[in-house]
Amino acid sequence: MNRTYSYDDVLLVPQYSEIRSRSEIDISSDLGKGVKLQLPIFASPMDTISEGAMAAALGKVGGSAIIHRYNTIEEQVTQIQNMEEPVIVGAAIGVSGDYLERASALLNSGASFLCVDVAHGHHIMMKEALRALRRKFGAQLHIMAGNIATLQGISSLSDWGADSVRCNIGGGSICSTRMQTGHGLPGFETILECAKTDRNIKIIADGGIKNSGDIVKALAAGADAVMVGSLLAGTTETPGEIHMDVKGARWKTYRGMASKEAQINWKGKYSSFEGVTSRVPHRGPVSMILEDLERGIRSGFSYSGARNLKRLQLRAQFVTQTTSGLSESRTHITTRKW
Ligand code: IMP
Repeated sequence: MNRTYSYDDVLLVPQYSEIRSRSEIDISSDLGKGVKLQLPIFASPMDTISEGAMAAALGKVGGSAIIHRYNTIEEQVTQIQNMEEPVIVGAAIGVSGDYLERASALLNSGASFLCVDVAHGHHIMMKEALRALRRKFGAQLHIMAGNIATLQGISSLSDWGADSVRCNIGGGSICSTRMQTGHGLPGFETILECAKTDRNIKIIADGGIKNSGDIVKALAAGADAVMVGSLLAGTTETPGEIHMDVKGARWKTYRGMASKEAQINWKGKYSSFEGVTSRVPHRGPVSMILEDLERGIRSGFSYSGARNLKRLQLRAQFVTQTTSGLSESRTHITTRKW
């Protein structure tokens, strides 16, 4: 059996740098067919993360949100039509039922690209959907698809017509797929695996990303962009009410789209569930969080002496760390015994 690694198992080795200011660094990423991000972050297509407000906020700073599909076609279309400035905004669809009709409506309303959003993307229904979408919309549309966890998975989705692929099965913060099904692969390992593909396909590191350090590790390992849910959860721009507990603390809900609660909301019942619902503190406007992430990413490029994504990937040197290394890597004053 192979040993596999997660983000916390590795570190990037700091390298000689000639970069005098973080403003010299270009962290943009061109995913092709009009999807060029100045900030290589996508917001997950989840009903507690991505609707119009998140898409506007993320689009403003050069990232992109993918409007979730857990609503009627009209409701999803309205989220896109209400967008006030030109931003790059994605729209999620499934692989069955009304997905072709939904895709047409979303593209007609101004969606920049489609995201074929299913839990297990290395699947015959994904193959059929991608082929049907290509037949209907042609070669010029950017189509993201996923999720997959293997080299074979990403290569297949490329062959079936995807331009970018969400990579990671079971690594999301609200995910219980690995516990329910025993399947998955650590997120960082998935990126290393997928980066071996010989296809012309863009890699989205999706799920399990906890901080800007993980974003830098994912990009350095071969990802073209990351997709995040929990990093943006609880912010003002996420859908849903702000609640207050008895002590006056404010919180919002963040939940997996395969959680019992989400399934009951959008289809009236639940079948197999592979996610959980949790409370996260209300954290104010997302812009402040995005600014901090951007600063962290720029600093990360600088520690590798890299002026852009390509250089980062060429220069990256990873080492594994022990449990003691991980304790040292985390801020540890709070756990010190005085
Ligand atoms: P996070 O950034 O670690 O919170 O992970 C977000 C990612 O988890 C999403 O982009 C999806 O790929 C994945 N995800 C969303 N809902 C579920 C679920 O219910 N079960 C498993 N994975 C999920």
